[in-house]
Amino acid sequence: MSDPFENAKKQLENVAKLIDINEADLAYLSSPKKVITVSIPVKMDDGSLRIFKGFRSQHNNDRGPFKGGIRYHPQVSESEIKAFSMWMSWKCSVADLPLGGGKGGIIVDPKELSESELERLSRGYIKLIYRDIGPDLDIPAPDVNTNSKIMDWFEDEYSKLVGQESLAMITGKSLGNGGSKGRTEATGRGGVYVLEQLAKRKDLKPEDTTIAVQGFGNVGYYFALLARELGFKIVAVSDSKGGIFEKQGLDIEKVMAHKKEKGKVQGFDSAKEIPGDEILEMDVDVLVPSALENAINEKNADSVKAKFVIEMANGPVTPEADEILNEKGIIVVPDVLANAGGVTVSYFEWLQNKQDKYWEEDEVNAKLEEKIVDAFNQSYEEMEKLGVDFRKAAYALAVRKVLEARD
Ligand code: NAD
Repeated sequence: MSDPFENAKKQLENVAKLIDINEADLAYLSSPKKVITVSIPVKMDDGSLRIFKGFRSQHNNDRGPFKGGIRYHPQVSESEIKAFSMWMSWKCSVADLPLGGGKGGIIVDPKELSESELERLSRGYIKLIYRDIGPDLDIPAPDVNTNSKIMDWFEDEYSKLVGQESLAMITGKSLGNGGSKGRTEATGRGGVYVLEQLAKRKDLKPEDTTIAVQGFGNVGYYFALLARELGFKIVAVSDSKGGIFEKQGLDIEKVMAHKKEKGKVQGFDSAKEIPGDEILEMDVDVLVPSALENAINEKNADSVKAKFVIEMANGPVTPEADEILNEKGIIVVPDVLANAGGVTVSYFEWLQNKQDKYWEEDEVNAKLEEKIVDAFNQSYEEMEKLGVDFRKAAYALAVRKVLEARD
């Protein structure tokens, strides 16, 4: 598998050539400002002690506090976390948020832990990093396998350690604990605003546009649900156990009800079952990778038949695959733009916490739409101006803005 941080640096180098960044600036942006590695001791329910490894990478804060999610996954690595923290810098810049880039993670399969073990692990992580985070310094959020309950534990532990309630130190909290309305759906919703803009520019009629969504978690589910509400045809979805296909389009809510009951999308109604990887090679108009990084790589990129790829996951297309897709004329809407809805509403949550004033969901969604449409149009115009692919255009915009903000 390709190394995520090497990929992130390669993408940056490509952009540096394009917009003529000097070597010192490239070196400045090529590594995180700080990477924290922690060993978290956790007392397990059986009385034994286990040590878990965790990270927090702070890439850049020239535009504002570091910002980025915390992931719990057995495959978490320092390289991956560093790459994500760099991508977060570009994402916040593309979305024009006054925030920088950070990311955290713990090497753990949370499914193997009881709820109280998970709570002790989460609180233990915060105990080790709390001096390096905070409402104006570094503001974490949820990512793969972390949720509002875990954010609430983080907030509670942090507030105890610093001796005062600090809601704005983290986003993605539960609604009763300072969370924002609309945050849960925000990433998928932002992706659907991107889809709408793409459809407008490329003259796609929703009812004639077929979509395949890889990954049926928070991001993939809400993307599929909201796109279907606009009339787009979601013909295939998949999770880690495999995929399903229905030519007429899937009823997304019913698929989720089935997944909740059976633990997988396969077995749904009369939908045809397909192997998980096949979804990436389906003959659809729009492919939406919403699972994990490196899904589309040099081995399968040539088999992608979709005309458009919307990267809802972080880093689902490797640089090698990107080149192949570009050569094939496939338009790839990059993750830093496509999935910026999550961090945008995280920013709204932070603002609401700081002002102690809370917005209705319609207001959140309207503000989100405005931000995403602006970001889409700016990147699209940059793409036409520079004559490059969408990713390079969005990165060029983002990197330039980060450098402009440096003291
Ligand atoms: P999640 O844990 O809720 O869902 C992940 C889904 O991917 C699950 O359905 C899982 O079964 C599926 N999956 C895993 N491996 C797969 C495979 N090989 N094939 C098909 N499906 C597979 O996570 P999420 O929050 O939806 O995040 C998904 C992606 O989106 C990640 O890359 C994450 O970094 C990115 N992202 C998330 C947010 C957010 O707000 N949650 C914001 C921006 C980006």
